[in-house]
Parts: sequence; structure tokens; C-alpha cells
Amino acid sequence: MSHSDKDRIVELRALLHQYSHAYYNLNTSAVPDAEYDSLYDELVELESQYPDFFDEHSPTQRVGARPLDKFLQFVHKLPMLSLEKAKTEDELTQFNRRISDSLDSAAEIEFCCEPKLDGVALSLHYQHGLLTRAVTRGDGITGEEVTQNAKTIKSVPLKLFGKRFPAFLEVRGEAYIPLKQFELMNDRSVGSGEKLFANPRNAASGSLRQLDSKIAAARPLFFTAYSVGDVEDSELQLDQHSHYQRLQQLQAMGLAVSPLLKKVKGINAVIEYCHDILSKRDNLGYEIDGVVIKVDSLAQQQALGFVARAPRWAIAFKFPAQEQLTTLLDVEFQVGRTGAITPVARLAPVVVGGVTVSNATLHNQDEITRLGIKVGDTVTVRRAGDVIPQIVAVLTERRPLDARDIVFPNACPVCGSAVERVSGEAVARCSGGLFCPAQLKESIKHFVSRKAIDIDGLGDKLVEQLVEQQLIKTPADIYTLDMPALIGLERMAEKSALKLLNAIKASCQTSLPRFIYALGIREVGEATALNLAQHFGNLPAIMDASLEQLLAVNDVGKVVAEHLQSFFAEPHNQQVIAQLQQVGISWPDITVQQASAQPLVGHTLVLTGTLSSMGRDDAKSRLQQLGAKVSGSVSAKTYAVIAGDNAGSKLAKANELNVPVWTEQQMLDLFSSNGVA
Ligand code: NAD
Repeated sequence: MSHSDKDRIVELRALLHQYSHAYYNLNTSAVPDAEYDSLYDELVELESQYPDFFDEHSPTQRVGARPLDKFLQFVHKLPMLSLEKAKTEDELTQFNRRISDSLDSAAEIEFCCEPKLDGVALSLHYQHGLLTRAVTRGDGITGEEVTQNAKTIKSVPLKLFGKRFPAFLEVRGEAYIPLKQFELMNDRSVGSGEKLFANPRNAASGSLRQLDSKIAAARPLFFTAYSVGDVEDSELQLDQHSHYQRLQQLQAMGLAVSPLLKKVKGINAVIEYCHDILSKRDNLGYEIDGVVIKVDSLAQQQALGFVARAPRWAIAFKFPAQEQLTTLLDVEFQVGRTGAITPVARLAPVVVGGVTVSNATLHNQDEITRLGIKVGDTVTVRRAGDVIPQIVAVLTERRPLDARDIVFPNACPVCGSAVERVSGEAVARCSGGLFCPAQLKESIKHFVSRKAIDIDGLGDKLVEQLVEQQLIKTPADIYTLDMPALIGLERMAEKSALKLLNAIKASCQTSLPRFIYALGIREVGEATALNLAQHFGNLPAIMDASLEQLLAVNDVGKVVAEHLQSFFAEPHNQQVIAQLQQVGISWPDITVQQASAQPLVGHTLVLTGTLSSMGRDDAKSRLQQLGAKVSGSVSAKTYAVIAGDNAGSKLAKANELNVPVWTEQQMLDLFSSNGVA
């Protein structure tokens, strides 16, 4: 035996022990399964070359990891074994041949197939139909008692259905967490600062092995049964011939079995089943890492028996791994339509779940800090279903000496405006709202919309064309559009171009609240824009307002005040505002209303029916100027309902609830007596 092979065997055994301990006992993956499996295969190969170096404690001879002594331990009556693996159709065919040879049978074998759920094995003990104990697989010989936790799993029946049960029945199956529930659980953990799990398997393992069963109860664990273990007095109640039949019986007793369970004849049908499940993998809602194939006949199972770690009558067909190791080559910062800045990891290309992945999202600064990741690091990348690939772990022990810190930019990588990070918000944003090309289409669409500057005929498609053809770089450019520019656009005839130019011109006369709303400042909607306009009366006062002054405005809290300040502090935005005024946009300043001139403060009004003197939006904004809140539904708390022509159910409701009903004229009188034009 060469010295280096011997060293390698020792090294591999130590590494695999270390990884198994992390995986089975600490509920984390130190490396992806694919990496573990390839080291494992390498060890199997070396050990078969050097049988003298056999060690019964080698990871290749053992299942799982030694149980932790923080739980009570339980010795399984029948060991809970591992499964032999096949990665190719060829290996499945060889498995079939071995079985047929061993059974000396020419007939096609019947197999029971089902998805291989990626969770943790759990053994449930029922005595006369009552759940008495639940045990993890542990090292296959000795497991951990997790009875209290298992009792919190809703799909684990505490009492079996039916009247007659075996005196003792051990049900084996997989405890797992479906994908949606896993995401929700991790989202909650982000909020509460708890540890995040890298994948649903680790989460299931960690949850099942909680010392505090109250915590386990809050975890979304599910259980699916896949076999019968030890049984006493089974003759009367359990089928004696077929594994499949036994699973049907478990289902009748109230246990969940896989809805995709199928009995098939011959290995070709098995291969077809594997293809079918692989094609369904991304839409199952829970993680699977392959298909488990078992000889269906219990007599044949018995005849085939076991090898050291696994039964001879079963095999796991492994699907492409959903986690792989790769290197973080660089991080780029992308600016989204709303200005959100997302760090994107550039990775050394790697095949994950059958697809080559070279980018992954890093979400935000908090995620970078949480992962403790640097450029140059070896990372575990995960791609499950059609979710964007994620980096779930960093192998810091493999960090190169020249690894680089990831520095979040202070300036937008697209337009150079300052990057704003509001306290309490994870997302960093470019503050160049009106100027940043990355945000341009969205900010223009908002600027021209009906409740903003209101340019009739300038729809989304047209905005997109104008931006793509670089005819508009800021909202001010809309006002420099002319006939020749418009005529060159798709589906734009002279008549509609003329109409549009007129609408653009008409929009120059606007109001201060509309203008503020049109700027598209984050969290500044119509109502806030109106409050700001009424409070300050003119634009320079708003732009120059201190944080305290902004906070004095009705409905403006710290977050909105900060958005306002950073928006107006950005020179690019100041420039666009100045340009908009230069091209002719104007509005009358508002006489600052005193509280006494707002007779409707604290009251909710409802508009219904058709008004003859103005549109509903106009009426609404005037009522708001008088301090009212305008709602869409009538309740006993409604101050008054203003009924126009053809008012219907809201009017009826008002009458029913004795809510005062005003005519349109009464409303107009109120406007004129309070100076609201
Ligand atoms: P296994 O997962 O390969 O196979 C046996 C297990 O499959 C059972 O214990 C059960 O939990 C599960 N299973 C799901 N559906 C089943 C069904 N219908 N019938 C029977 N069993 C079903 O178990 P193993 O060989 O002990 O573990 C090896 C796996 O663990 C490998 O995939 C390996 O990559 C992974 N592992 C990873 C690390 C790591 O560091 N990433 C460490 C150790 C092990």
C-alpha cells in the first residue's frame, strides 16, 4: 500500500466522521451532500483496494452518527439501515440482475417505488394502536427518543384508526418540512434573529431533535410512512406478502403514505417511474433527492437479506444534487426597477440540479454579513425548483489568503446617486429616483399617471418605447418631445401625436400635491403628498424642511421623513425638479390652512353616485384639504355620505345606519365657504 493512499484513507475517514457529526448531530451541512458522497465513494474505492486496512468504525461500515447523550437513547430492535445508491439506469439494471440471480428467478420482479423524501428517518412505536415512543435513526443501532416532539407532528396519529391492532407495531417513515413552510420558518427566524437553516433537511433534523417540545411544536414538520419495522403478533392484522399492501394498511390506520407510491413490474417500469418523478420534482412542494425502489414481495425480501449497511432488496436512485460547492469569483451590484440594490454573486460555473449555475443572489447587506462571505470563498450554492440560486453556506476553513471583503457601494453603480439605507429596512436603494436610468421606465410611468401629472395618452407601452429609444432620459424630457420625434414611433399617427402633444402641454398646469406625488418618492402616496402641500404651502419649504419639521406633518413618520430628505438631498433630483419648472410646469402655492379651517378633521366621508360639477377624484382631494378622510365603504362611524346622481347601495346603507346624507350642492357650499377652489 502506498504511503499516500494510506494517508488518504485516514484523512477521508476523519473528514467523513467530522461531516457526519455536523450533519446528523448538529443539523448543519459542513459540505454539500454531493461533496460528501464523492469523498465517501473515494473511500469505498480505496478500502476495496486495501482490504487489510479494514476498520469496522470506518464511515463506510456505519450508518448515521452516534446519538447525542442529551436525549434518552433507545436500541432499535431491528437496525435502521441506509440504502444502496444508483446514479444511472445501468446501475438500476445491475441491481435488478443481482436480485434475479440471487433469487434464481426468471420472472420479472415486482417493485414498490416512491419518492425519496429528503428529511430525517423516524421510527414510531404503537402499542395496541397507541403511540408510545418515537426514535430517530441515530447510528442505525441506537437512536434518540424524541417522543414528545413527534407527538407535536399533526400527521403522526397518536391513536391508530380501527379496532384491532398488532400488540406492537413499529412504523418507519420520514419527518420533513415542505418548501413553503421552510421559507416561512426561515423568514420568521430572520425577523427574530434566530439561526437560519440552510435547507429543509437540516431544519427537519434540528426541529425533531429540539430539547424543548414547545419549539418543536411550532415547527412545520410532516411525517410520511414508508415501511413497517418490528411487529409483534402481526399475523391477523398485517398483510404477510406485499410491502405495498402493508403501506395501504398503514394508510387505513391513519398514517400518511406517499401519494406517488406505485407498484410496478420489471426494471424498465422502475426506470420509467424514476423519469416521471424527476420531471415532477420541482413542483412537489417538498424536497426529494431521488426514488426509493424496494422489492415488493416480503418473502423475496427475506430471501435477499442484508449487507453491512443496507438491505439487498432496496436501492435509492439518486437525482442530481441541488447543492454543490463552487467559488465566489466576484460580486456585482444590480439596480432594480424600484432602485433596490441587490448584490449578485458571480460564481465559477457549476452544475446544480442538472443546470449550470454561474450567478446567485446575495439579497442584501444583512445576508452578506450573516454569511460572513468574502470574494474568493468556497461556497455551497443551492438551486431548488425554479427559485433563484442561493448561497447557503461558506466554507471558511477553505478561505484563500487573498480573499477580499465585499464592499457595498455608497453610490449607485448605474447613475452615481447616493445609496440610501433606511434604518430598519434591509434593502439599500439608489436615491436618484428621477434620474437613474435603471429606474427610469417606472419613474416616468408613475410621473405621467392619472393621479400624478396626468398626461392622457402616454401609456406604459409608449413610455417604454420612448425610454428605449433614449428620447426621454428624465421626466423633463417629456416636455421637449416634438412632432418629428413622436411620428417616428411605432403605431403613432399624426393625429394621435398631436393629441399627445396637447395633453403634455395641458399637464404643465398642475397642483402642488400632484407634483409632489408625481416625483415618486418612496412611501409618499397621494394622501401624504396632499398633507405635505397643505402643511408647507410651497415646494421650496418642503425641500428645505428639517426632519423635525417633516415629522410635524400629519401622517409623516420617521421612515417617510427620511425618504423625503434623502430624495431632495440628491443633487440629481434637484436638477430634474429645476428642469421641470424651466420647461413650464407650474402650480399655485397653497395658503397654509390653519387647523380651524379644516372643519372635517377626524371625520370619514363617503362619496357615492355621479357628481355633476367635478370628478370623484377632485371632490375627494378637496374634502381631504378640509381635513376629511375619504373612504369607499359606509359604516356606523361614517360622518356623512355625499350622494350624487344614481346613488345606490351606499346610499341605502347610509339610510339604514342613520348616517347623514349630503347633496352635491351642500358639499360645494362647504368648499366655497372654506376657500377650497
Ligand atoms: P440515505 O439518505 O442515503 O438513505 C436512507 C434514508 O433514506 C433513510 O434513513 C430515510 O431517512 C430516507 N428515506 C426516504 N424515503 C425513504 C423510503 N421510501 N424508504 C426508505 N428510506 C427512505 O441515508 P444514509 O446513507 O444514511 O445517508 C447518506 C446521505 O446523507 C447521503 O445523501 C449523504 O450525502 C448525506 N450526508 C451528507 C453529509 C454532509 O455533510 N453533507 C454528511 C453525512 C451524510
